[in-house]
Amino acid sequence: MRMSKLFVQTLREFPSDAEVISHKLLVRAGFIRKLTMGVYNYLPLMWRVLKKVENIVREEMDRAGAQELLMPFVQPKELWEESGRWGAYGAELMRLQDRHGREMCLGPTHEEIITSIARDGLKSYKQLPVNLYQIQSKFRDERRPRFGLLRGREFIMKDAYSFDTTQEGLDKEYKNMWNAYTKIFKRCGLETKAVQSDSGAIGGSVSHEFMVITDTDAGENDVFYCDCGYAANSNHAISNLTPAKIVGDWTKAEIVDTPETHSIEELCDFLKIEPTVIVKSLVYIVDKDPVIALIRADKNVEETKLLNAVGGQEIRIAAAGEIEDIMAVNGFNADKGFIGPKGLKEYNGKPIRFVADKTVVDMKNFVIGINIKDKHLVGGNWETDVELPSNIADIRLVEAGELCPECGKALKVTRGIEVGNIFQLGTKYSAPMNAVYTDIDGKTKPYIMGCYGIGISRTAAAAVEAHHDEFGIKWPLSIAPYHAIVIPVSTKDELQMNVAEDIYKTLVKHGVEAVIDDRDERVGVKFKDAELIGFPYIITVGKGITEGLVEFKTRENNEKSEIKPEEAAEIVITAITKLQLCE
Ligand code: ATP
Ligand code: MG
Repeated sequence: MRMSKLFVQTLREFPSDAEVISHKLLVRAGFIRKLTMGVYNYLPLMWRVLKKVENIVREEMDRAGAQELLMPFVQPKELWEESGRWGAYGAELMRLQDRHGREMCLGPTHEEIITSIARDGLKSYKQLPVNLYQIQSKFRDERRPRFGLLRGREFIMKDAYSFDTTQEGLDKEYKNMWNAYTKIFKRCGLETKAVQSDSGAIGGSVSHEFMVITDTDAGENDVFYCDCGYAANSNHAISNLTPAKIVGDWTKAEIVDTPETHSIEELCDFLKIEPTVIVKSLVYIVDKDPVIALIRADKNVEETKLLNAVGGQEIRIAAAGEIEDIMAVNGFNADKGFIGPKGLKEYNGKPIRFVADKTVVDMKNFVIGINIKDKHLVGGNWETDVELPSNIADIRLVEAGELCPECGKALKVTRGIEVGNIFQLGTKYSAPMNAVYTDIDGKTKPYIMGCYGIGISRTAAAAVEAHHDEFGIKWPLSIAPYHAIVIPVSTKDELQMNVAEDIYKTLVKHGVEAVIDDRDERVGVKFKDAELIGFPYIITVGKGITEGLVEFKTRENNEKSEIKPEEAAEIVITAITKLQLCE
């Protein structure tokens, strides 16, 4: 490819709407352009990268025994009603109607479709197990599309689905996919950590996410981990707590004045107590209705865990006005510093739901809000003074330093970008959709399913997060849009131009994806673009050529050397041959 012909416009500045480096660099280096919120054009350089990621994924999936197919992007409502998700999926599902008024959706994921394909074709145990996958665009009307390709609304995903007759079969395929994922991400130049996770809207029980660890804002997940190997997303992490004082010093229950104690800190200062003897009440809104969470006051609530405890799609902390309103409906007028479960009965014409975290169950003689301004109950006990909610669950956000549930050492925390995940679905889709096969005993049984996703576009962006410097992207060789660029310093210098053309032709002849920067531009501009775009190898033909030398630069470490043109070509050709051998 000649740079003068390459469709790429690099920008001098970072885009103003970009927060994370992969978004900034991919726009500035001319890989992507935003079409509308969370929707991007993949320009030629990006498309080359995406195809390479896809091909690595495809090769490893095929090698692991999976078979590729392609399912439609638009899906009919009927299948989603069969699985029960038409109602359950929420606002992320982009719904539309055709000219006949039939309801459809844009595929956010394809469990329903694949399950319908399986039930049509997989009728006997003799045909199982099977793993089917596709690489397809998905659409999710994300609440907060951001970070460029890391969280788009339209994005490319590899999604695979396995069908087994036994749990042992599923366990085996789960491990098989785990191994394939490890290879895939390694080949894409990414180090990943497999962490336990919540199964979310897809459902199922066992699941792991493959995380690219980062210390930047791009890592939307908190990962708790331990040297022993335990690692879990915060939405799933558990921990043991060191013993704490959970019994208050009061000998009888009484209501005391606690003026102006609007926070746990102020309440502790006023009563001269530890937060570990306070039961904290937090008001959340789950799909329009209030849910009150009770937790020991030195700890915080993990919203996904709370959502799972009550069921629903969206959760957020209630605003001050909403809390006042809930209070008023139940005949109180205190603010959030004084909330407690007692006397809060209904809202929106429905009973208010409560969830107690496990930390509060054994507390005694505790302090708790009673919905009266400037007052708290001290010396409180469950059942005698306040009713313990029947919904008791682990809704606690783990903190670093708490003890590993597996080995007891202190947990550490880091952030991760989820590039892929694997789920054991069991019969969550096959049972309601009546997707069954005839087993060896002649009985019909639902398939035991697994599903396995990889964000193709997110993986490419995660590679930029992991590989860049202040000058631009440093693509791993395996997914770089082009392997090498040859830069003649002066296109007017005949010798420089001839040598550059020779190197370029040699590279291309040997299967290297090379670019020659034949533009009549200042050399500074050419260097800047080459570094920004992130060519793994940069060969510059300048004045040194009169002594038979070119400058050879490896973008990964920015190391330069003066070598002969043939040697430069040889290094690149060898690297590409080695890369192909690894494939
Ligand atoms: P997240 O927790 O990040 O929203 P998810 O649990 O919704 O992800 P899945 O439904 O399991 O993700 O999708 C499989 C893969 O697709 C994810 O591991 C991720 O790599 C990718 N992915 C999911 N949502 C997006 C998105 N909005 N933009 C880009 N990639 C995405
Ligand atoms: Mg999601």
